[in-house]
Amino acid sequence: MNYSEIMVRYGELSTKGKNRKTFISQLANNVKSVLREFEDVTINAQRDRLHVNLNGADSDAVMKNLDRVFGIETYSPVMRLDKDSEISDIQLMSKQMIEDEISESTTFKITTKRQNKDFNLSTYELNDQIGSYLLDNFENLKVDLKHPDINLRIEVRMSGIYLSSKTIQGALGLPVGTGGRATMMLSGGIDSPVAAYMAMKRGVKLDMVHFYSPPYTSEQALAKAKDLASKLAGFGSSINFIQVPFTKIQEEVKEKVPEGYLMTIQRRFMLKITAELTKKRNATGVFTGESLGQVASQTMESMMAINDVTSLPVLRPLLSLDKTEIISIARKIDTYDLSIMPFEDCCTIFTPPSPKTKPDLEKTRHFEKNVDVDSMVKEAVDNIKVTKIKAGESYLNSQEDVFSELL
Ligand code: ATP
Ligand code: MG
Repeated sequence: MNYSEIMVRYGELSTKGKNRKTFISQLANNVKSVLREFEDVTINAQRDRLHVNLNGADSDAVMKNLDRVFGIETYSPVMRLDKDSEISDIQLMSKQMIEDEISESTTFKITTKRQNKDFNLSTYELNDQIGSYLLDNFENLKVDLKHPDINLRIEVRMSGIYLSSKTIQGALGLPVGTGGRATMMLSGGIDSPVAAYMAMKRGVKLDMVHFYSPPYTSEQALAKAKDLASKLAGFGSSINFIQVPFTKIQEEVKEKVPEGYLMTIQRRFMLKITAELTKKRNATGVFTGESLGQVASQTMESMMAINDVTSLPVLRPLLSLDKTEIISIARKIDTYDLSIMPFEDCCTIFTPPSPKTKPDLEKTRHFEKNVDVDSMVKEAVDNIKVTKIKAGESYLNSQEDVFSELL
């Protein structure tokens, strides 16, 4: 069916009172951003609905991109008729929509909303005249008001008459950009992309901070992290990817700090640098993919010893999720296959065989004095590289190169 538009119903934002305007305009921007490849599509955001006018674009392809945008409760592909249409036009269009969906013995109901009070038929009359027309035209069709296979929605509005027979659940959440700005510590692993997804679901706009350590880590490891950022960009808008050179710090720490505290002190560097970048960019928090008790650096004691370097909130959306739960979300958001590609990241290479699971805060501070923290943090911050990453981009080399590197 050649639908004329996709009608988007707002999610939680409808309850947000005076912030509503901001929410709607942010959602409209995000929708524009994920649909930018469809040149003919236009977007019209109104108080209670957002209209994506297809102007001939393929509705399935458009809906596939819409599916990931936070702040959408449900959406429907719809046919729009002129607001002064005759009942016979509405009947005919209803018939076409049902025809598209009907299999043997289908049940249906009609849900009519009449916002245009000038329309010459009442809600009751509309339901009655369209319902009986459909029953006359399809002999297997039956009415079921409780659990119908098809719910034909008819909305009589000032801007037109809208018909839809499918209601699809959206990504829920809040539009990215309405929940403030933060930085995300994004590795190439399974957890941090999932944590990023969860932060974005609550409307937070994220800049990704990624630490890399050439020549210990490869170009491909960096590209993989960028590809993950690109996947995540599909949930909101473009993402700033900040790569931070970490080799010198890791070498220096490895040389001067006792092995048991290597990992804790490296993590302190990462967080301190991320916190500096966060403040510089006027953002207000740091997200990580940590989950309590998962590995040595993720005990309460360890978190305390690492958090010590900043007063910014460090937010951990995965804190109480199990690995299997995290993996199932990673599969759902399509980051899993990228995450499990076996490129070493900077941490695995410099992780000692038995890091302290309960580092002592005073000892941590003491051992850290062996290295010149401030100058190394400054040097790293001065040498970042920022790339603006959009949905659908790919930085990893072709499959063949990837395999040759793994051999
Ligand atoms: P992930 O699956 O996200 O890599 P993990 O289970 O491997 O997590 P760790 O390696 O201890 O756990 O990392 C904990 C968190 O520290 C990560 O979720 C991420 O937020 C951050 N982190 C680790 N390595 C990096 C990196 N190279 N760049 C940026 N952040 C990192
Ligand atoms: Mg990791």
